[in-house]
Amino acid sequence: MHRAADILKDRELKHLLQVNLQKKLRRSLISLGLNMPGRVKVNDLVKRSLKKFFNDLELCLISKEISYKLEQYLELKCGCYYILSSPYNIIDLKKICVDFEEHHKYGRLFDIDVITQYGKSIKRTSVGYSERKCIVCDNEFRKCRVEKAHSIESIKEIVTKRLNEYVK
Ligand SMILES: [Zn+2]
Repeated sequence: MHRAADILKDRELKHLLQVNLQKKLRRSLISLGLNMPGRVKVNDLVKRSLKKFFNDLELCLISKEISYKLEQYLELKCGCYYILSSPYNIIDLKKICVDFEEHHKYGRLFDIDVITQYGKSIKRTSVGYSERKCIVCDNEFRKCRVEKAHSIESIKEIVTKRLNEYVK
């Protein structure tokens, strides 16, 4: 169990790493993660699921002949992440990633961020997709989070159950 402040600190660290990588490479970046609710963000199930999802995304990119390179794998207190770079146009890349996420049976459990040169991630809505859906109730995820519509325990239970289905 981590302190909330340490999780926050690692989120900032991740952001900084991405900005620096972007400066160095000057390419589009994709950050693939899994946001496990609660204070334990990384465990064996999370790692195995994210690896599998990363492999699924790779197959998607390869099938579309989009070149990419795995730059970093990060394991931080805020979660684990695969960071990929691609010379591909950032807007088209975002569309491909959202489309992949939407059509993947377990896509809603993962976060695929496509990051601009300023370290900001592109919104789904700015490439014509709707807001992310909540994994518990199908409403807008953001709304549920702001209203704290579900307990962390109940979200964690559903995420864990679905991840187990995915990696079994
Ligand atoms: Zn909800």
